[in-house]
Amino acid sequence: MAITHNLGFPRIGAKRQLKFALESYWKGQSSIEDLKAVGSQLRAQHWEDQTGLDLVPVGDFAFYDQMLDMSFTLGNLPERVRGLAGDALDTYFRVARGRSAPAVEEQAGCTCGVAAGEMTKWFDTNYHYIVPELTADTRFELDASRLLEQLAEAKAQGVRAKPVVIGPVTYLALGKTKDGSDPLALLERLLPVYAELLNTLAEHGADWVQIDEPILVTELDEPWRHAFEIAYHELKSAPVKLLLATYFGELQEQRYLAANLPVAGLHIDVVRGREDLVPLLNLLPSSKILSLGVIDGRNIWKTDLNAVLEWLEPIQAQLGERLWIAPSCSLLHVPVDLDSEQRLDAEIQSWLAFARQKLDELRILAGALNQGRHTVQAELAANRAAIAARRSSPRVNNPAVKAALAKIDARLGERNSPYAERAAKQAERLQLPKFPTTTIGSFPQTAEIRQTRRQFKAGDIDEAAYVEAMRGEIARCVREQEALGLDVFVHGEPERNDMVEYFGEQLDGYAFSQFGWVQSYGSRCVKPPILFGDISRPKAMTVDWITYAQSLTDKPMKGMLTGPVTILNWSFVRDDQPRSATCRQLALAIREEVLDLEQAGVRVIQIDEAALREGLPLRKSQWEDYLGWAIESFRITANGVADETQIHTHMCYSEFNDIIAAIADMDADAITIETSRSDMELLDVFDDFKYPNEIGPGVYDIHSPNIPAEEQMVELMRKAAERIPAERLWVNPDCGLKTRQWSEVIPALTNMVSAAKTLRASL
Ligand code: GLN
Ligand code: ZN
Repeated sequence: MAITHNLGFPRIGAKRQLKFALESYWKGQSSIEDLKAVGSQLRAQHWEDQTGLDLVPVGDFAFYDQMLDMSFTLGNLPERVRGLAGDALDTYFRVARGRSAPAVEEQAGCTCGVAAGEMTKWFDTNYHYIVPELTADTRFELDASRLLEQLAEAKAQGVRAKPVVIGPVTYLALGKTKDGSDPLALLERLLPVYAELLNTLAEHGADWVQIDEPILVTELDEPWRHAFEIAYHELKSAPVKLLLATYFGELQEQRYLAANLPVAGLHIDVVRGREDLVPLLNLLPSSKILSLGVIDGRNIWKTDLNAVLEWLEPIQAQLGERLWIAPSCSLLHVPVDLDSEQRLDAEIQSWLAFARQKLDELRILAGALNQGRHTVQAELAANRAAIAARRSSPRVNNPAVKAALAKIDARLGERNSPYAERAAKQAERLQLPKFPTTTIGSFPQTAEIRQTRRQFKAGDIDEAAYVEAMRGEIARCVREQEALGLDVFVHGEPERNDMVEYFGEQLDGYAFSQFGWVQSYGSRCVKPPILFGDISRPKAMTVDWITYAQSLTDKPMKGMLTGPVTILNWSFVRDDQPRSATCRQLALAIREEVLDLEQAGVRVIQIDEAALREGLPLRKSQWEDYLGWAIESFRITANGVADETQIHTHMCYSEFNDIIAAIADMDADAITIETSRSDMELLDVFDDFKYPNEIGPGVYDIHSPNIPAEEQMVELMRKAAERIPAERLWVNPDCGLKTRQWSEVIPALTNMVSAAKTLRASL
């Protein structure tokens, strides 16, 4: 009998109930009891959704983040929140958000809040966790209350509970020591708390415990590998059976280590780590359970169940009772329920599976393995038909796109002349002053703008009215920029809801869900568009807006586009061809837009690649491959233009140390980046690399409502000029201004323009 289980379920709720409950509590509109009640209801609902599985995760629910939950379980609270008044959950929110609910802050006699914990990406997902804060003095102390409470609820509901915790090595590896000490030095102090936790769970009836160690799919130094040996030898006497769970990639050189740790079972991700399977079958001691993550927990496509059974049945014959099956990783990274969708195209919907549907797939696989394929014949036939339909659909396959892709050659990504020659021609054409000023694209997205977009979507206003309203906004942006005296203008992006969705909606090959939300952090969710087919551009997407904006001014108006790598990384993408092929298709489509803009007389074109860095693979050994096709895609997009056309790119982060060569290889005439908070030191890497083109290091932190002073920005630019020759520097904010108010933007940009003038005068 193959055992079925799940590693984790999305906690946000099919209709984002948790988000709304959290935000209402944070605004002081509901009580902590109300919030906790929503938590219990969601857990109950999600366990019910998992009915029929042999083991169901408990402890995967978190009010904000599972890593933060783990820090609380281990008693690792930052000093600054200890001893504050209020419910334990308020303390938890203080770490998560830097404040709790307003009412609670007042009770505690402070309105200022405390610094929020740092947040960072969970492996290569778009989920963000709160980084455990560690120092050489960190002490741990068990607080199993949260887990025990959920375990008791699950038992009362008759759930076959499998508690889920983050393993000690991954916990330390993802933590950050504030004092530069070695986090591994804390292992010895940490393990007794884990042992106590496992004992406690056993006392409360847990038989199996899932212990997540995804760090095993990354490159590990010897001390970290050794830490696994130490940790699991110490925990092996715990009176529970441990299922060591890895996911998001291949174990590769960690196979032997993972196979031989003294635990009762090992879970591997065979969607991403299929290569591990055969070697592991040989390495795994004959007493151990092998759990295979056969259903993709990172994407939204139906699994080809018949194909999985083809290779899984022989493995079942070999492993017998020792085979478990599950999704590849926690379902946290996919939306909850496809059945909520009412407006999705029926054909495309028939190719998809969200969390609930993925568990149905698991049940079908178990039926086939345990009772024979004939018992699930109808389901398997339906699945086969859906897979075949998707594969052969003319909506997925566009021969013209495939032909264009086959014709890509190196020439396509080359400018006609090297940067120095282009720069001279561009200078001649654009006639910009030294330290030219510009902004990154968006101006404030006011309530009126959002309402107008909503009305247009709902059909309450017609296209003519919508275009007129947006043109009005564009005209306002142009007027303001004239008054400010900026040098290179933007149209302000009022017509864009989101920098990826806006383009997805206009490209063939994209679909959009209504409820396909995935948690990004805390109460924040994203709804990635679904890239299902070959990508093509039926018609120009931005040219009308940009040429209208340009018609209002003599200053150069930037054409504003999102680059192919960012569109790829922020979408659910097809799994039937390599990501590189999908990225090149996007590149060809956006290239057409670039050329149309140029044709329409646009002199400067910015292609945003905000998500280039976050697409980096987990293993450094795979970076070269990723950067190879990612940069090639950017070059295809950008480099078809004449020398006189100036290409900009923008990235909203400042860590370039390990990718500077690739960034230089993009060969954009100018790059704008985020640097205001790092005091320009992050330009050192551009300096050391002798980065040859122009740079606009952000001088104004757009995340903050503070108005930056002129002197402060002059000072930052002086520091920049110590690293980059002044004639190659631009003056601009860190990122787009859409989340700011006009009342903040005007004085900030006024000061920024004055700063540029001061700098010019001092040359
Ligand atoms: N052009 C976009 C804007 O200004 C860039 C956004 C981003 O980098 N995230 O909003
Ligand atoms: Zn940005």
